[in-house]
Amino acid sequence: MSESLFDQASERLADAIAHVHISEDAIERLKSPKASLQVSIPVRMDNGTLKVFQGYRVRYNDLRGPTKGGIRFHPKVNMDEVTSLAFWMTFKCAAVNLPFGGAKGGVAVDPKQLSKFELERLSRGYIDAIADFMGADVDIPAPDVQTNATIMGWMVDEYSTIQRKLCPAAITGKPLTMGGSIGREAATGLGAFFAIETLMPLLKMERSQTTVAVQGFGNVGAAIAEAMSKAGYRVVAVSDSKGGIYSKKGLDIPSIVHYKNSTRSFQAVYCQDSVCNIVEHDTLSNEELLELDVDILVPAALENQITEHNAHKIRAKYILEIANGPVTPAADKILERRGIMVFPDILINAGGVTVSYFEWVQNRSGFYWTLEEVNDRLKQSMVTETLRIWEVAQQKQISMRTAAYVHALTRLSDAIDAKGTRSYYAQ
Ligand code: NAD
Repeated sequence: MSESLFDQASERLADAIAHVHISEDAIERLKSPKASLQVSIPVRMDNGTLKVFQGYRVRYNDLRGPTKGGIRFHPKVNMDEVTSLAFWMTFKCAAVNLPFGGAKGGVAVDPKQLSKFELERLSRGYIDAIADFMGADVDIPAPDVQTNATIMGWMVDEYSTIQRKLCPAAITGKPLTMGGSIGREAATGLGAFFAIETLMPLLKMERSQTTVAVQGFGNVGAAIAEAMSKAGYRVVAVSDSKGGIYSKKGLDIPSIVHYKNSTRSFQAVYCQDSVCNIVEHDTLSNEELLELDVDILVPAALENQITEHNAHKIRAKYILEIANGPVTPAADKILERRGIMVFPDILINAGGVTVSYFEWVQNRSGFYWTLEEVNDRLKQSMVTETLRIWEVAQQKQISMRTAAYVHALTRLSDAIDAKGTRSYYAQ
């Protein structure tokens, strides 16, 4: 039987436990989710028929605060995936020292097949189904794959209707007019950018000499491609689910982003219409993009993109994981043997949840920050935690991934011990 995603996630925990002294109580507590919910969501379709969708929400661990995690709309969403993503969120929030535990949610649906009204009814239906499981002090959803600020707006409106009061802090990633934070949309990509900028001098690399390939051109892929391109890195390839484009000289990322934003298309932005005309390029498949000879490969699409089947073909020197779980544990081992360093998801993509935390703080205080304040605080957090994780990796001579888990595990373990461990009760 093939390994489940949660088995893979748990392997990371086992690797980290070998390098840090934590109580057995802490290990036991972190092995399984606190609570998991599966719901059926009936949705009236535009043609009058009723369709029932399966939805999920997992609250993995709330020892450091209310649980926090995105909602994904994708046909392949299932309990194993949601549980694994909730596990990762637990470690991510601890790795960057947010007062949150980890959660995740999703609906098994292809949202591109729904009309806007059907999508709104599904989004509201999901909140109706999980309303007793969430709340500003309990569990706070946010956007993830194929969900966005508009969807969060419908969701927070539905939640507020159920509660019969405005509850902006119950969901983050909202539209600005509904209490969203300025800077949230670009935060995951920008956070990853601050992390790589912190690492560049340690790796003795120069931006202008550094080539980059980005897999996935959605919320986060487009943001990191744009930030790196503006800063002088040479982004030579980008792709989405339909395929990719490559130019040895570097792509004109701002024009590609502009096209994507102006069409608001979920579809490939290349090679169907105008971008092909304004960017000189070759086309390539996603597999080819992953195997390009570049300095930094940025997987920014979905999990399980680099596995034991293609890890030996990867030619990048560094992998910057913006997607959650793009490299499997088996691939990790092959990459490590081959000297390819992976900068892990739980650090690299933590910018999104960090600004979600800022949004929650702003909603609760009723005092809103400027973009400069948001980005300064994000930068401070990403730089501090990247350097700490780098130091752990250097001191213990372990990979950056294991170091990030060790760093997070120490904080989680402190929270667990503070509530009383076996040794505490034995005294
Ligand atoms: P998105 O839906 O906006 O974009 C996903 C992109 O990946 C799209 O361009 C899609 O076409 C592309 N894609 C899908 N399958 C692909 C494939 N097989 N090959 C190449 N491209 C493919 O989603 P997003 O919000 O940008 O999230 C992307 C990843 O980042 C996910 O793993 C998500 O969990 C993670 N992430 C997102 C956030 C956030 O704030 N949005 C925060 C942390 C982590």
